Amino acid sequence: MQFSDLGLEPGLLRAVADKGYDTPTPIQAKAIPAVLSGRDVLAGAQTGTGKTAGFVLPLLQLLGSAQGRAPRVLVLSPTRELTAQIADSARAYGRYTDLRTLVIFGGVSERPQMDGLRQGCDLLVATPGRLIDLVEQGAADLSQVKHLVLDEADRMLDMGFIHAIKRIVRMLPAQRQNLMFSATYSDDIRELAARMLRDPVSVEVAPRNTTAERVEQVAFRVAKEDKRHLLVHLFDAGASGEGSWHQALVFTRTKHGANRLAQQLEGAGIRAAAIHGNKSQAARVRALEDFKGGRIAALVATEVASRGLDIKELPQVVNYELPNVPEDYVHRIGRTARAGSTGRAVSLVAPDEAGLLRDIERTMRQTVPVLPTPAFERKVPAGAPDRGPPPPRQQQRAPQRPQQPRGSDARGVSRPSASPANRAGSAPRPAGPGGHPGSRSRRFGPSRRSRSAF
Ligand code: AMP
Repeated sequence: MQFSDLGLEPGLLRAVADKGYDTPTPIQAKAIPAVLSGRDVLAGAQTGTGKTAGFVLPLLQLLGSAQGRAPRVLVLSPTRELTAQIADSARAYGRYTDLRTLVIFGGVSERPQMDGLRQGCDLLVATPGRLIDLVEQGAADLSQVKHLVLDEADRMLDMGFIHAIKRIVRMLPAQRQNLMFSATYSDDIRELAARMLRDPVSVEVAPRNTTAERVEQVAFRVAKEDKRHLLVHLFDAGASGEGSWHQALVFTRTKHGANRLAQQLEGAGIRAAAIHGNKSQAARVRALEDFKGGRIAALVATEVASRGLDIKELPQVVNYELPNVPEDYVHRIGRTARAGSTGRAVSLVAPDEAGLLRDIERTMRQTVPVLPTPAFERKVPAGAPDRGPPPPRQQQRAPQRPQQPRGSDARGVSRPSASPANRAGSAPRPAGPGGHPGSRSRRFGPSRRSRSAF
């Protein structure tokens, strides 16, 4: 992808070339078209990802040429340093335009800032407190703002700017584009986003120093139609010596696929719930809470629903289907190994996904080891929950790996919920459907829970 593919005007492309940038960063590739479309944007990105150009470049384009005295773009940022940095970037990217950028922050004399406001600007970058002071003195006019950016929104909330932000927002015209950038998603951020953004495009990229190094990544080659069987086997036996799985976050590409897989897992006795954009907020919250509380073992998620999921001590992420965009893979696997812990990411790769895996490896500059596919039984009903007997079992002709003791996770800690046999770590895997480690029932057919959930 090139900057010229993003629909930016020649003057902006020239300024970008002057800065020496070759290609857009992932956040720029995603955010620039979204901002240009005029939609509200919720972006998860940290400093260092190139996010400033991600919103400044398209906003400069939307502004066109200089007009009037009052700013049409307002960028709120938490600190002087960041505010000054954003303004510097806006001036650099806008050097071939006649647009004016003004910067306002506290701790310095108000006078030059008032003079600047009197002369007029198109883009105003400000810290909230000083901006309110200047508005109250009649020096700043916010009545023409058409685009509002909250940069590092999480930091602004941490610094106690919430009331100032709300006050400023009330001073703006109702008709405007809103962009919100935040490195983290707390409940407060979610609430602010829900209040401020209308039908936002969600954009998220992994931090520069990705967690990829701390995540043990493995892949299995498996036919598409066998993935569900292998996944159930992995829950039972683990992927690479870690023992049976207590919990996993499983990614599918589509909402429908997420629903179907959650049903299939329930059909195989693994407590599961789907989480995706078609689910109500209440259902999503419930699924997440059930997962965090250990009441479900598999949370089957689509890309969009996974944004901002922060689940402590999540040992496993499964790419049931590989994402089309390599950055999404990095983001997905970053759901595990959070806050310095380690984790495992397992990808189930069908023959037609081999190219996607290569793209991912190229992006990460890292190979994902492909392990021999373990033997598994084909016993997971395909369709809606099957209340009849399971289909005939067939054994796959793949090398059988030694059975790992159950009841221990990657760190070798016994799970409190494991059954006595499992806790002893000596129970052989049942030949047919039987008791599953932990509190999950291994009986075929849907549990009461699954019936109500779907
Ligand atoms: P930011 O995350 O916006 O603070 O940007 C972090 C750093 O990346 C800044 O020094 C930018 O100048 C630089 N930068 C932004 N976009 C690109 C790009 N496409 N290629 C190379 N460097 C960039």
